[in-house]
Amino acid sequence: MSYWSKRACETLLPLSNADALKAALQEWFYTGSCSEFECCSETCELCGQDGLRYHFEIANSENGNTLSVGSECIKRFEIRAIDHDGSKLSIAETAQLLDIDRRKLVEDARKRRALEAIRQLQEKMPEFIAERALTKMSNSGSFSPLQAAFLLEKFDFFGIPFRFGDYKISIRSSAEKDELRDMSEHRLRLAWHALTPQQRKSIHNYREKVELNGERWR
Ligand SMILES: [Zn+2]
Repeated sequence: MSYWSKRACETLLPLSNADALKAALQEWFYTGSCSEFECCSETCELCGQDGLRYHFEIANSENGNTLSVGSECIKRFEIRAIDHDGSKLSIAETAQLLDIDRRKLVEDARKRRALEAIRQLQEKMPEFIAERALTKMSNSGSFSPLQAAFLLEKFDFFGIPFRFGDYKISIRSSAEKDELRDMSEHRLRLAWHALTPQQRKSIHNYREKVELNGERWR
């Protein structure tokens, strides 16, 4: 018996009706409920792995018992999700659903951290109108280069904790790219940290195009 099966026998069998692991696993399904623990110190109730940040709930269809486990364990033991009429999804469909749910948790956490830093800035700078930044953030999940650079500069100045990766910058339009051209060197440096490697490449290409037209980039 593998290490994982042994662990699952210890944790899952006492909560299942069947007394063999294979049959017991059939009783369990992913409920679609998942949550994030900010401190990263939760334990998978199926395999005992520590340090999990994201938890996914599985339930036993025979007796209603539930466990809070890591998504890898749901995949490893081929526990399946159910759709709205109660039929089981395939293993591949379940894996897909878990990935979607996990991405959503990551994205929600990013937005929550970003909003918290903006809230702190509002406290330090009562004259700062957070509304425009917040509206842009909640509509598109990203900021214009100027908005992002402004926020990052102020967080830096006031010592408000932030992560560059939490401030997604939109540079789809030329107007947005031109905001990077016009901002101060200091702001550009901060915004640059928040851009993805692909975005940096696209700015390099844009700069080349501008300079080929005989214009100065900055
Ligand atoms: Zn586990």
